[in-house]
Amino acid sequence: MTLACRRRAPVLDPAPATANEWTTWQGLSSVLPELATGTTGVCVVGTAGLVGLLPSGDGLLMWWFDVHQPLEGSPAAALAERFAGYGALVEQLLENIRDEDLESFRHVTHHVPDQWGHGGATLLGDAAHAFPPTQAQGANQALEDAWLLSRALRVAPADVPRALRRYEALRARRVRRVSRRAVSERTNKPLPAPVRVLARIIPPRLVGEAYVAQLRGVSSILDYETV
Ligand SMILES: Cc1cc2nc3c(=O)[nH]c(=O)nc-3n(C[C@H](O)[C@H](O)[C@H](O)COP(=O)(O)OP(=O)(O)OC[C@H]3O[C@@H](n4cnc5c(N)ncnc54)[C@H](O)[C@@H]3O)c2cc1C
Repeated sequence: MTLACRRRAPVLDPAPATANEWTTWQGLSSVLPELATGTTGVCVVGTAGLVGLLPSGDGLLMWWFDVHQPLEGSPAAALAERFAGYGALVEQLLENIRDEDLESFRHVTHHVPDQWGHGGATLLGDAAHAFPPTQAQGANQALEDAWLLSRALRVAPADVPRALRRYEALRARRVRRVSRRAVSERTNKPLPAPVRVLARIIPPRLVGEAYVAQLRGVSSILDYETV
């Protein structure tokens, strides 16, 4: 991510991405074999932040902790303290984590302008619009950029700068939506009580439809955007 940000400087403003107070502590190891060999992921959210557990093949489990404020001292010990009470799975995971298993990623955000380039130069992916990983959309939005960029160049090969500005403007309005949601870090926080009640009474089909509608709003592909 840092390298991609540096490549942004000659094309866009040199302002670095700004970090907020959240960090992802992440690792991949052979723990919780029943979960690791299955096909279901688990997320647990509480006042300390979010824990994610995801089967990753070959008996490995990817796990991460999204935490607010830096950890002090041994990160493994600090996580064990903060995430005590997150249930049996998380407890078992924490018992098996050592400091050397952990890698940390600060959550950073770029300002996303309408224009990401000049003349025949443009950007895509994190170089244009890094944001916190909380919406699981960083790589997805980079792929969306690549899809629309290739279409823009195919449609207007004779006027590349114009095609690039059109690509940037179309992608920027969608990326900004994801970026705003990601920056809110709302997936790392417990749901407010009224939303918890709604979540229990709304039929799962409607929840699914709302989620797809939200994805459409950030996707040039699902909306089949024309250049
Ligand atoms: C903890 C964490 C969890 C995430 N989870 C998700 C998720 O669940 N879903 C999701 O969609 N996204 C997720 N993301 C975001 C995703 O990883 C990024 O958005 C995505 O990797 C961006 O892709 P990119 O190609 O734009 O940039 P990068 O992946 O940073 O690729 C840029 C590449 O260019 C190389 N490079 C840079 N400068 C040069 C140079 N001068 N010469 C040659 N090579 C160079 C770099 O080494 C790098 O390999 C997560 C990110 C983090 C940190």
